[in-house]
Amino acid sequence: MTSAAPARKTQIVVVGGGAGGLELVARLGATFGREKFDIILVEKNRTHIWKPLLHEVAAGSLDANLDEVGYRSHCHRWGYRFFYGALEGIDRDTRHVLIAPILDEDGSEIMGHHRIRYDYLVLALGSVSNDFGTPGVKKDCLFLDSRLQADRFRTKLLNHCLRVSRIMSLDPGRNEMVRIAIVGGGATGVELAAELYNAAAALKHYGLEVFDESRLQVTLIEAGPRILPQLPEKLAEAARGELEALGVRVLTGTQIVEATADGMVTKSGELIPAELRVWAAGVKGPDVLKDIGGLETTRNNQLVVKPTLQTTRDDRIFAIGDCAYLVPEGETRPIPPRAQAAHQMAATAFSNLRALIKGEPLKPFRYQDHGSLVSLSHYSTVGSLMGNLIGGRSVVLKNVSSRTVQGMKFPDSPYGMKMACGENP
Ligand SMILES: Cc1cc2nc3c(=O)[nH]c(=O)nc-3n(C[C@H](O)[C@H](O)[C@H](O)COP(=O)(O)OP(=O)(O)OC[C@H]3O[C@@H](n4cnc5c(N)ncnc54)[C@H](O)[C@@H]3O)c2cc1C
Repeated sequence: MTSAAPARKTQIVVVGGGAGGLELVARLGATFGREKFDIILVEKNRTHIWKPLLHEVAAGSLDANLDEVGYRSHCHRWGYRFFYGALEGIDRDTRHVLIAPILDEDGSEIMGHHRIRYDYLVLALGSVSNDFGTPGVKKDCLFLDSRLQADRFRTKLLNHCLRVSRIMSLDPGRNEMVRIAIVGGGATGVELAAELYNAAAALKHYGLEVFDESRLQVTLIEAGPRILPQLPEKLAEAARGELEALGVRVLTGTQIVEATADGMVTKSGELIPAELRVWAAGVKGPDVLKDIGGLETTRNNQLVVKPTLQTTRDDRIFAIGDCAYLVPEGETRPIPPRAQAAHQMAATAFSNLRALIKGEPLKPFRYQDHGSLVSLSHYSTVGSLMGNLIGGRSVVLKNVSSRTVQGMKFPDSPYGMKMACGENP
């Protein structure tokens, strides 16, 4: 007598273990268990670092090794499986995600192309910087999209600081500077500019005795009429004042048309000289999402979703976070690419997946803007709290550490994924 084949488990695959995906997969793992379900996270990195901290990693004021979460130990604790690999396609006919070959550090193949079956799929791949096709940006600018890129920025920054320190200790009369141009006056660019001064001030305690923040020359370049367009004008002005007091040159209404190895070229033909050039002027979905699996995508590679967060052409596939495109009913603008949106979408995707599996009706996603806080390192913080919920409350906080701000930035999500995922969901 042959024994019956074991029943096939329902497989829920989440691709991308960032702000939205990691929270979702932990909730799914803890709720569904392993007996009848297999919850799988596919992620191209081995560890997670909370993306809103990357400017601190880049400036060197945060050691990413101390703040990261290892997916292998996290999945063991939260009841999901971790698959290390990068999504490269979706076969919707057979319901498989296609994973790119895994290479070791020398480029030799550890594992070839791979396929993972799914019954339900959630795409949470986040976003990458959008260079809008500006010549030279890919080659000559640094980005803050990942831990790797933040580490690369920090190494280059330290090397330039070391160079300046060495020249000045040999010849104290020299006026050497580390020149940094940051394109994009949104929260990322503003926070990075302020954090650089904090980090530079600390360098003298780490062996660079003749180096301090006065050796930094940071230019923040924004094409629009003002920095921090997401904040009320008064607060953006306050932030600008704080930055200028630190020594940042703030240029608004200045469009960059080219990046070179020497600096950034403006539309009027001026070269803004810079040894380090950072591009933080907007985001788009990762290129792999472009028309992936025949799903509907925008020009910016975002996946168009219905109010339930299901993709428009496949009810079994959800998208959340920065890679999802949803214009809420009655609104004209899409949900912004922000951690609080990813967090809220993870909660809706969780309850809608549960409803879909049980055959119950799904709920529409409702975004609640809790406001924005922009941390100017430990110098100051500007922001508007509670968004539109209570009419908005503007704040300028002095001498508030960026750590405190991280906690306040995400009022309905404890600071950091370590804590967010360390509690029972
Ligand atoms: C410096 C900086 C500061 C920020 N500050 C704030 C802030 O103060 N407040 C705020 O609300 N938002 C902030 N943001 C934006 C916020 O980080 C994002 O909105 C949020 O992280 C989006 O979450 P997500 O889950 O969609 O994507 P992410 O958190 O980016 O996660 C995406 C995950 O997908 C993985 N991935 C990508 N491609 C693949 C692939 N092909 N295969 C497998 N895995 C893949 C990535 O490795 C990553 O782990 C900031 C961003 C930056 C860069």
